[in-house]
Amino acid sequence: MSVCWIDGIIVNKNQAKISVFDHGLLYGDGVFEGIRFYNKQVFQLKAHLARLLDSAKSILLNIPYTTNELEAAINDVINAYAADNGYLRLVITRGKGPLSINPENCPRCTTLIIADQLSVMPPSVLQKGAKLVIASTRRLPVDGLDPRVKSLNYLNHILAKIEANQANADEAVLLNAHGYVTEGTTDNIFITKNNQLLTPPISDGALNGITRNVVLELARKLGIPCHEATLSPHDLYIADECFLTGTAVELIPVRQIDGRNMRDCPGPIYQKLQNAFNEEKTRLTL
Ligand code: PMP
Repeated sequence: MSVCWIDGIIVNKNQAKISVFDHGLLYGDGVFEGIRFYNKQVFQLKAHLARLLDSAKSILLNIPYTTNELEAAINDVINAYAADNGYLRLVITRGKGPLSINPENCPRCTTLIIADQLSVMPPSVLQKGAKLVIASTRRLPVDGLDPRVKSLNYLNHILAKIEANQANADEAVLLNAHGYVTEGTTDNIFITKNNQLLTPPISDGALNGITRNVVLELARKLGIPCHEATLSPHDLYIADECFLTGTAVELIPVRQIDGRNMRDCPGPIYQKLQNAFNEEKTRLTL
């Protein structure tokens, strides 16, 4: 049974309620993090809290807790949750206010933390690889909403996901306004070409993914040449390997993009990184 922490009170799923006047619901006004824990230990806690604080600062959201208080709340939720491994959703909304968009009328943010299980893709996809389509829905431009802000506004990602569903694909890739690759709907994207690992720079319009950063770090440790590079759909089509990274999906190989089969799936570089990533997780459980 999932566990919810709402502004200091732990309740179960059926008792978890927030106001219909909350601007997180009415306007998508807020920020969030998706976090995994293994053996009751949070993976990359500092990085998640740093990104949350940056997202909140960028949208002038005053988090009513210190970082230590948030860490303590996260640990309380994990301890109250029955399983050792799971997924946390930490959400901070602008809070309750009247039915108008003005955030000045919302005196206090609502903070909630949910512990639950999450599996985004069936295990068969993990084994044989995901099928991707390039969505016609574009990533929001950097001058619309900076992609580094992990906000509650996911509507264009949801539209891209609908495009994937309609095409019987597992995931969609969003391009930026110039037609270059940014990321998946809730994951970052990597390709390999001639033994080099490539991923689009954040400035092309991707979220600064924590799993992405862990993978880049592991690649450096393993001596795999890796670079940030602006990528077009053509680069994806002719890649040797492709895979997705994210807290929810962890690392998922890609077998097909817009009907073009990848040369290798799961490919050798993916497998090396996947093994190294599993070791990182295991280190938490020792
Ligand atoms: N891009 C988007 C749009 C996401 O929502 C996520 C999930 N947080 C990611 C990438 C992957 O980021 P992370 O590895 O930090 O989960």
